[in-house]
Amino acid sequence: MRDVVVVGGGIVGLATAYEVLRRRPGADVLVVEKEAEVARHQTGHNSGVIHAGVYYAPGSLKARFCTEGAARTREFCTEHGIPFSDTGKLVVATTPVEVARLADLTERARANGLALTSLTGAELREREPHVSGLAALHVHATGITDYAAACRALASEVVAAGGEVHTSTAVTSIDEGTDGVRLGLDGGSDGSGATSETARRVVVCAGLQADRLAAMSGVNDGPDAFRIVPFRGEYFRLPASRGDIVSTLIYPVPDPELPFLGVHLTRTIDGGVTVGPNAVLGLSREGYRKGSVDLRDLADLARFPGTWQVARTHWRTGLAEQRDSWSRRGYLRLVQRYCPELTLDDLLPEPAGIRAQAVLRDGTLVHDFLLRRTERTVHVCNAPSPAATSAFPIARHIVDVATAAA
Ligand SMILES: Cc1cc2nc3c(=O)[nH]c(=O)nc-3n(C[C@H](O)[C@H](O)[C@H](O)COP(=O)(O)OP(=O)(O)OC[C@H]3O[C@@H](n4cnc5c(N)ncnc54)[C@H](O)[C@@H]3O)c2cc1C
Repeated sequence: MRDVVVVGGGIVGLATAYEVLRRRPGADVLVVEKEAEVARHQTGHNSGVIHAGVYYAPGSLKARFCTEGAARTREFCTEHGIPFSDTGKLVVATTPVEVARLADLTERARANGLALTSLTGAELREREPHVSGLAALHVHATGITDYAAACRALASEVVAAGGEVHTSTAVTSIDEGTDGVRLGLDGGSDGSGATSETARRVVVCAGLQADRLAAMSGVNDGPDAFRIVPFRGEYFRLPASRGDIVSTLIYPVPDPELPFLGVHLTRTIDGGVTVGPNAVLGLSREGYRKGSVDLRDLADLARFPGTWQVARTHWRTGLAEQRDSWSRRGYLRLVQRYCPELTLDDLLPEPAGIRAQAVLRDGTLVHDFLLRRTERTVHVCNAPSPAATSAFPIARHIVDVATAAA
């Protein structure tokens, strides 16, 4: 019997396996990942930003994890030769309402202990000649990296410490008994088909499939049930000729009601600049092509009362996002609010990402990390942004929960 099986080879699962082995050298740890490689879903399709922790309630787990996670991410990257860059970022207000929201955000960021500089519109223009706004907040501690490379390094560390990482292996059932947990598995890189593993503890970090795996453990029923609602984040890439249009990352002021940060200009670690992501309801959890529909995912969305409640509450924003997703002109307008000289020709294709957003039956969009557990399993039900930045402290927290008595 294994000591620990971790389900999911995204950054949260791999950081968890790494943390278990750091605490208990020699433990028998297995990571199972259904794709042929690690980091194929959210972790490999994100903006690559090392967030500083501007947006989160001071003292909250999310705020603490972000600050600590950003420092650990930089350390890990340094130790493993993974490129990262301390770019800083500017949050730009373009309307009087956003100026007021930016003032609130500045207070929050200050309470989170961040180094900041407030800029007037003229100072912003001086610093970023191609960006315009009424005011801006310069957040010094934001950076960028390559989270897929971090995952590959974590997987190597797990193996070097005596653990195993089995890719192309999907968990199909979870049966918990008094002595251990039996996982039904499908696949295996050797084509072995249906097999099983037993473990004393199981930690499930399944991202876009989190609700289905939680249901296998019986922790996703009744009034507390949640569903993963996929929100596509569509990106474009600027042409190389626009590579110097911004020297830092440029973010709009987010709507405090929504868990997304708005379409931003992000310098990427490979030297490019991406535009995005938007946030459009997805009809396929893992279908990255535009217009992808998965009938099972669609049926799950339609059957869940929370989906309809989200639609009722956010229909106006949802429709606007859909319109701007299908019309490049609409999408362009979002970024032209702060970078007016970009044109349609500047929006080159770039793969989308899909966020796993947990939604409760009453339509609440869960903003925070959400864990559920049984005697021997811990399920990470919601690990939204900035969970890539915060993966190391999240992993520590998960292992604390997993080793505490149920
Ligand atoms: C568009 C976008 C932009 C973002 N930008 C940022 C950013 O700039 N900075 C930041 O900090 N965060 C960002 N995030 C958030 C961040 O990427 C995620 O919070 C983080 O990657 C979550 O990691 P994870 O390991 O929980 O999930 P994932 O990376 O999705 O990993 C889950 C894994 O579980 C596997 N799995 C699922 N079901 C099974 C099964 N049955 N058996 C075996 N394996 C299974 C999947 O194949 C997958 O590999 C962004 C997210 C998106 C989508």
